[in-house]
Amino acid sequence: MPRRHSLLQLLRRHGPLSRKDLARLVGLTPASVTILTGRMLASGFLLELGEEVSQNRAGRRKVLLDIPYDKFVVLAASIESDGMTAALCRLNGTVVARQTLPLNFQEAPEEALIRLAKTLTELVQDPRVKNNRLLGLGVGIVGPIDRNRGVSLHAYGLWNQEVPVVAILERELELPVCLENNVRALALAEMDFGGLEGGRQLFLKYGPGIGAALIIDHQLSTGAHNRSGELGHTLVPANALVCRCGRTGCLETVASPQAMIDACLNLPSPPATLKDLRTAVDAGDEEVLNALVPVLDHLATALINAVQLFDPHWLVVYGGFLNHPEILKRLSDSMGRLTGDAQAAATLRHCTIPEDAPFLGGAAVAVRRLFLGDSATG
Ligand SMILES: [Zn+2]
Repeated sequence: MPRRHSLLQLLRRHGPLSRKDLARLVGLTPASVTILTGRMLASGFLLELGEEVSQNRAGRRKVLLDIPYDKFVVLAASIESDGMTAALCRLNGTVVARQTLPLNFQEAPEEALIRLAKTLTELVQDPRVKNNRLLGLGVGIVGPIDRNRGVSLHAYGLWNQEVPVVAILERELELPVCLENNVRALALAEMDFGGLEGGRQLFLKYGPGIGAALIIDHQLSTGAHNRSGELGHTLVPANALVCRCGRTGCLETVASPQAMIDACLNLPSPPATLKDLRTAVDAGDEEVLNALVPVLDHLATALINAVQLFDPHWLVVYGGFLNHPEILKRLSDSMGRLTGDAQAAATLRHCTIPEDAPFLGGAAVAVRRLFLGDSATG
């Protein structure tokens, strides 16, 4: 299994490769690669691209192997406090069909999941995927999860109890289901579908809280106690505000989107909502932009420290107000001003996953776990 995983990962990163190149890159003998790829071709996990490419010296053409991207599909879903999304996707993250589902807070978690399963079942009926192999479902959910038990431990702003998400959805769909925290799942999606070069990524999801995920050597780094990436709950000196986590002084209390609104309270006409805030920034309202400087400085400080610690290829930001080019520019300026050089800010970039497609996190987890056979993820 690990060898199959290595071969498929290589093909995914490099594109089509010959058996000889695969053997060299993966460190196996050509004979072993021939046996292994033979098995994978027979089971449909590989595709021979014929004899298209460059001639070698002997005048023989190289046969290239690739992943049969259009032969498989996965189901994907996201469960967040502002609603659920469901989709049917190909192995490269292309969306075949999608659906948004509102959340009803009166509804028991199991009922919501049964409703989600029903929508997913409808998506699979799409005639365009009639001849495709459906591998299963990947779900990204807000809050901490227990991956071994497939349980959501606490979906903040949504459910206050443990919910056996995998057991319920596997029962309803009769398919393999894998679960991951939504921020971690999105970081994987950016790495796998967003064409992110380099295997080291610090991912920041901004709003409603401040979530982060760390990827090292293309793999999620979840931490010794599953708490890796809790950037929102790192401490800010001389901060007496109480956080929703119960502690005092967390970054989230001074740098979240809500903190941006709070920072404008003393202005003559303060923006009441994030939408108002966006309008003011769009209009180039200097008073508002100046009021945001301390907030952005807090965020910038935390990011500079994280970049200093983890030295990622990329610091990817996703969501909410950081999608605004002016705010991202000011965050970058803040990082430059606080460090005196452009090093940390140079790694900063926007996430390519659209904000209305959070299910792609689940798709990335499903592809890794159910197609690539990556046991370390999801
Ligand atoms: Zn906190």
